[in-house]
Amino acid sequence: MAVLHRGSSGPEVITVQRELNRQSFPRPNLAEDGMFGPRTELAVKTFQRSNGLVPDGIVGPMTRAALGIPDTGRPFTHRVRLQFRSISLTDVSFNTILAHTQAVYAPYGIKIEFGGGMSLGLDSVVAQRLTQIDGSCEWTITGGEYAEILGQGPQIPASDIGVFFVDRFSESINGCGGHMANRPACIVARAGTQYCTAHEVAHVLLGSSFSPAHIDDIGNVMHSVDLQRPRMPGFTVEQLNRIKQSPLCVAI
Ligand SMILES: [Zn+2]
Repeated sequence: MAVLHRGSSGPEVITVQRELNRQSFPRPNLAEDGMFGPRTELAVKTFQRSNGLVPDGIVGPMTRAALGIPDTGRPFTHRVRLQFRSISLTDVSFNTILAHTQAVYAPYGIKIEFGGGMSLGLDSVVAQRLTQIDGSCEWTITGGEYAEILGQGPQIPASDIGVFFVDRFSESINGCGGHMANRPACIVARAGTQYCTAHEVAHVLLGSSFSPAHIDDIGNVMHSVDLQRPRMPGFTVEQLNRIKQSPLCVAI
Protein backbone atom coordinates (compact mmCIF):
# COMPACT_ATOMS: atom_id res chain seq x y z
CA MET A 1 0.00 0.00 0.00
CA ALA A 2 1.68 3.16 -1.18
CA VAL A 3 1.61 6.28 0.94
CA LEU A 4 1.45 9.28 -1.37
CA HIS A 5 3.01 12.63 -0.57
CA ARG A 6 4.61 15.65 -2.20
CA GLY A 7 7.02 14.35 -4.82
CA SER A 8 5.03 11.14 -5.51
CA SER A 9 3.93 10.50 -9.07
CA GLY A 10 2.01 7.99 -11.11
CA PRO A 11 -1.49 6.70 -11.77
CA GLU A 12 -2.40 6.55 -8.06
CA VAL A 13 -1.75 10.29 -7.81
CA ILE A 14 -4.12 10.85 -10.75
CA THR A 15 -6.83 8.98 -8.85
CA VAL A 16 -6.25 11.17 -5.79
CA GLN A 17 -6.33 14.36 -7.88
CA ARG A 18 -9.52 13.24 -9.61
CA GLU A 19 -11.27 12.48 -6.30
CA LEU A 20 -10.10 15.78 -4.76
CA ASN A 21 -11.51 17.64 -7.76
CA ARG A 22 -14.76 15.69 -7.51
CA GLN A 23 -15.28 15.80 -3.74
CA SER A 24 -13.82 19.09 -2.49
CA PHE A 25 -15.74 22.34 -2.28
CA PRO A 26 -14.64 24.74 -3.49
CA ARG A 27 -13.26 22.57 -6.27
CA PRO A 28 -9.44 22.79 -6.26
CA ASN A 29 -9.23 22.41 -10.09
CA LEU A 30 -6.08 20.32 -9.89
CA ALA A 31 -4.42 19.22 -13.10
CA GLU A 32 -4.98 15.44 -13.13
CA ASP A 33 -1.40 14.88 -14.25
CA GLY A 34 -0.14 12.36 -11.71
CA MET A 35 2.42 14.78 -10.23
CA PHE A 36 1.97 15.33 -6.47
CA GLY A 37 3.10 18.96 -6.18
CA PRO A 38 2.35 21.82 -3.78
CA ARG A 39 -1.16 22.45 -5.14
CA THR A 40 -2.14 18.80 -4.69
CA GLU A 41 -0.62 18.86 -1.22
CA LEU A 42 -2.64 21.95 -0.29
CA ALA A 43 -5.83 20.34 -1.64
CA VAL A 44 -5.13 17.20 0.42
CA LYS A 45 -4.66 19.29 3.56
CA THR A 46 -7.91 21.17 2.94
CA PHE A 47 -9.75 17.89 2.37
CA GLN A 48 -8.24 16.37 5.52
CA ARG A 49 -9.18 19.37 7.62
CA SER A 50 -12.81 19.26 6.46
CA ASN A 51 -12.98 15.52 7.16
CA GLY A 52 -11.64 15.53 10.70
CA LEU A 53 -8.26 14.07 9.73
CA VAL A 54 -4.80 15.27 10.67
CA PRO A 55 -3.97 17.84 7.93
CA ASP A 56 -0.49 16.56 7.11
CA GLY A 57 -0.88 16.58 3.32
CA ILE A 58 0.05 12.89 3.16
CA VAL A 59 -2.34 10.39 1.59
CA GLY A 60 -2.18 7.37 3.92
CA PRO A 61 -4.86 4.77 4.74
CA MET A 62 -7.22 7.20 6.49
CA THR A 63 -7.23 9.87 3.82
CA ARG A 64 -7.41 7.27 1.08
CA ALA A 65 -10.45 5.67 2.70
CA ALA A 66 -12.10 9.06 3.24
CA LEU A 67 -11.61 9.78 -0.47
CA GLY A 68 -13.18 6.39 -1.24
CA ILE A 69 -10.01 4.99 -2.80
CA PRO A 70 -9.30 1.39 -1.72
CA ASP A 71 -5.75 0.93 -0.46
CA THR A 72 -5.36 -2.49 -2.02
CA GLY A 73 -4.90 -0.90 -5.43
CA ARG A 74 -7.96 -2.88 -6.52
CA PRO A 75 -11.48 -1.52 -6.78
CA PHE A 76 -13.93 -1.95 -3.95
CA THR A 77 -15.89 -5.18 -4.26
CA HIS A 78 -18.59 -4.47 -1.67
CA ARG A 79 -20.35 -1.59 -0.04
CA VAL A 80 -22.12 -1.02 3.27
CA ARG A 81 -24.23 2.08 3.73
CA LEU A 82 -24.53 3.81 7.09
CA GLN A 83 -26.97 6.45 8.27
CA PHE A 84 -26.03 8.46 11.31
CA ARG A 85 -28.67 9.60 13.81
CA SER A 86 -27.62 11.55 16.86
CA ILE A 87 -29.10 12.79 20.08
CA SER A 88 -25.65 13.55 21.46
CA LEU A 89 -22.39 14.91 20.18
CA THR A 90 -19.47 12.52 20.47
CA ASP A 91 -16.03 12.98 22.01
CA VAL A 92 -14.56 11.95 18.65
CA SER A 93 -16.14 14.00 15.83
CA PHE A 94 -18.62 12.33 13.47
CA ASN A 95 -16.25 12.98 10.55
CA THR A 96 -13.42 11.28 12.38
CA ILE A 97 -15.64 8.33 13.26
CA LEU A 98 -16.71 7.97 9.63
CA ALA A 99 -13.13 8.23 8.34
CA HIS A 100 -11.90 5.56 10.77
CA THR A 101 -14.82 3.26 9.99
CA GLN A 102 -14.04 3.63 6.28
CA ALA A 103 -10.34 3.01 6.91
CA VAL A 104 -11.04 -0.22 8.85
CA TYR A 105 -13.13 -1.76 6.04
CA ALA A 106 -11.32 -0.35 2.98
CA PRO A 107 -8.34 -2.77 3.03
CA TYR A 108 -10.84 -5.62 2.54
CA GLY A 109 -12.45 -4.02 -0.50
CA ILE A 110 -15.49 -2.87 1.48
CA LYS A 111 -16.56 0.70 0.92
CA ILE A 112 -18.39 2.33 3.81
CA GLU A 113 -20.83 4.76 2.24
CA PHE A 114 -22.32 7.61 4.20
CA GLY A 115 -26.05 7.54 3.50
CA GLY A 116 -26.71 10.70 5.47
CA GLY A 117 -26.80 12.02 8.99
CA MET A 118 -29.25 13.91 11.10
CA SER A 119 -29.68 15.18 14.59
CA LEU A 120 -32.81 13.74 16.18
CA GLY A 121 -34.72 16.75 17.40
CA LEU A 122 -36.29 15.09 20.42
CA ASP A 123 -38.56 17.00 22.74
CA SER A 124 -36.84 17.87 25.97
CA VAL A 125 -38.65 15.31 28.14
CA VAL A 126 -37.79 12.44 25.81
CA ALA A 127 -34.25 13.76 25.30
CA GLN A 128 -33.77 13.92 29.05
CA ARG A 129 -34.98 10.35 29.54
CA LEU A 130 -32.79 9.02 26.72
CA THR A 131 -29.63 10.80 27.89
CA GLN A 132 -28.81 7.50 29.53
CA ILE A 133 -30.06 4.40 27.75
CA ASP A 134 -31.32 2.08 30.48
CA GLY A 135 -31.77 -1.64 30.06
CA SER A 136 -29.35 -4.14 28.60
CA CYS A 137 -27.83 -4.70 25.19
CA GLU A 138 -29.41 -7.79 23.61
CA TRP A 139 -29.01 -9.20 20.10
CA THR A 140 -32.68 -8.62 19.43
CA ILE A 141 -34.14 -5.48 20.90
CA THR A 142 -37.82 -5.82 21.68
CA GLY A 143 -38.63 -2.96 24.02
CA GLY A 144 -37.47 -0.47 26.59
CA GLU A 145 -35.24 2.51 25.96
CA TYR A 146 -33.13 0.58 23.44
CA ALA A 147 -36.18 0.19 21.24
CA GLU A 148 -37.25 3.74 21.95
CA ILE A 149 -34.00 5.27 20.72
CA LEU A 150 -33.83 2.96 17.68
CA GLY A 151 -37.37 3.98 16.76
CA GLN A 152 -36.56 7.71 16.64
CA GLY A 153 -36.46 9.64 13.39
CA PRO A 154 -37.51 8.71 9.86
CA GLN A 155 -37.31 4.98 9.21
CA ILE A 156 -33.97 3.88 7.78
CA PRO A 157 -34.19 1.60 4.73
CA ALA A 158 -33.63 -2.06 5.70
CA SER A 159 -30.70 -2.10 3.25
CA ASP A 160 -28.79 0.43 5.38
CA ILE A 161 -27.40 0.31 8.91
CA GLY A 162 -28.50 3.03 11.31
CA VAL A 163 -25.86 4.27 13.76
CA PHE A 164 -27.49 6.02 16.71
CA PHE A 165 -25.23 8.21 18.82
CA VAL A 166 -26.29 8.65 22.44
CA ASP A 167 -24.69 10.13 25.52
CA ARG A 168 -24.28 6.95 27.54
CA PHE A 169 -25.65 3.58 28.58
CA SER A 170 -26.56 2.47 32.10
CA GLU A 171 -24.36 -0.58 31.43
CA SER A 172 -20.61 0.03 31.26
CA ILE A 173 -20.43 -0.30 27.47
CA ASN A 174 -19.61 2.15 24.67
CA GLY A 175 -21.81 0.54 22.05
CA CYS A 176 -24.44 -2.06 21.26
CA GLY A 177 -24.89 -3.90 17.96
CA GLY A 178 -28.30 -5.29 18.94
CA HIS A 179 -31.32 -4.00 17.09
CA MET A 180 -34.96 -4.70 16.31
CA ALA A 181 -35.83 -7.47 13.84
CA ASN A 182 -35.32 -6.32 10.23
CA ARG A 183 -34.16 -2.88 11.35
CA PRO A 184 -30.35 -3.10 11.12
CA ALA A 185 -28.83 -0.60 13.53
CA CYS A 186 -26.42 -0.10 16.36
CA ILE A 187 -25.97 2.41 19.17
CA VAL A 188 -22.72 4.18 20.05
CA ALA A 189 -22.04 6.23 23.18
CA ARG A 190 -20.42 9.66 23.30
CA ALA A 191 -17.29 8.20 24.88
CA GLY A 192 -16.80 5.58 22.14
CA THR A 193 -13.38 5.51 20.51
CA GLN A 194 -12.83 6.24 16.82
CA TYR A 195 -13.12 2.46 16.19
CA CYS A 196 -16.27 1.83 18.24
CA THR A 197 -18.60 2.34 15.28
CA ALA A 198 -16.60 -0.05 13.08
CA HIS A 199 -16.98 -2.65 15.85
CA GLU A 200 -20.73 -2.22 16.33
CA VAL A 201 -21.36 -2.18 12.57
CA ALA A 202 -19.40 -5.44 12.37
CA HIS A 203 -21.72 -6.99 14.97
CA VAL A 204 -24.65 -6.06 12.74
CA LEU A 205 -22.92 -7.51 9.66
CA LEU A 206 -21.75 -10.70 11.42
CA GLY A 207 -25.16 -11.36 12.96
CA SER A 208 -26.00 -13.04 16.24
CA SER A 209 -25.13 -16.56 15.04
CA PHE A 210 -21.47 -15.79 14.33
CA SER A 211 -19.10 -17.18 16.94
CA PRO A 212 -17.00 -16.05 18.64
CA ALA A 213 -18.62 -12.61 18.75
CA HIS A 214 -15.47 -11.19 20.35
CA ILE A 215 -11.78 -11.98 20.00
CA ASP A 216 -9.20 -11.38 22.70
CA ASP A 217 -6.81 -9.57 20.36
CA ILE A 218 -6.32 -5.80 20.49
CA GLY A 219 -5.45 -5.91 16.76
CA ASN A 220 -8.90 -7.29 15.90
CA VAL A 221 -11.91 -5.05 15.34
CA MET A 222 -13.95 -7.44 17.50
CA HIS A 223 -11.86 -7.09 20.65
CA SER A 224 -14.44 -7.06 23.45
CA VAL A 225 -13.42 -3.77 25.07
CA ASP A 226 -13.55 -0.42 23.29
CA LEU A 227 -9.97 0.66 24.03
CA GLN A 228 -7.56 2.95 22.27
CA ARG A 229 -5.68 0.81 19.74
CA PRO A 230 -1.96 0.93 19.02
CA ARG A 231 -2.76 0.57 15.30
CA MET A 232 -5.75 0.22 13.02
CA PRO A 233 -7.56 -3.04 13.87
CA GLY A 234 -8.49 -5.64 11.25
CA PHE A 235 -10.63 -8.74 10.71
CA THR A 236 -9.92 -12.48 10.58
CA VAL A 237 -10.65 -14.40 7.37
CA GLU A 238 -13.66 -16.04 9.07
CA GLN A 239 -15.09 -12.69 10.12
CA LEU A 240 -14.50 -11.23 6.68
CA ASN A 241 -16.17 -14.17 4.91
CA ARG A 242 -19.25 -13.81 7.09
CA ILE A 243 -19.36 -10.05 6.69
CA LYS A 244 -19.33 -10.42 2.90
CA GLN A 245 -22.25 -12.85 3.14
CA SER A 246 -24.40 -10.28 4.92
CA PRO A 247 -27.25 -8.90 2.79
CA LEU A 248 -26.15 -5.48 4.11
CA CYS A 249 -22.72 -5.92 2.48
CA VAL A 250 -23.65 -5.55 -1.17
CA ALA A 251 -21.37 -6.72 -4.00
CA ILE A 252 -20.59 -3.88 -6.42
ZN1 LIG B 1 -18.90 -6.03 20.84
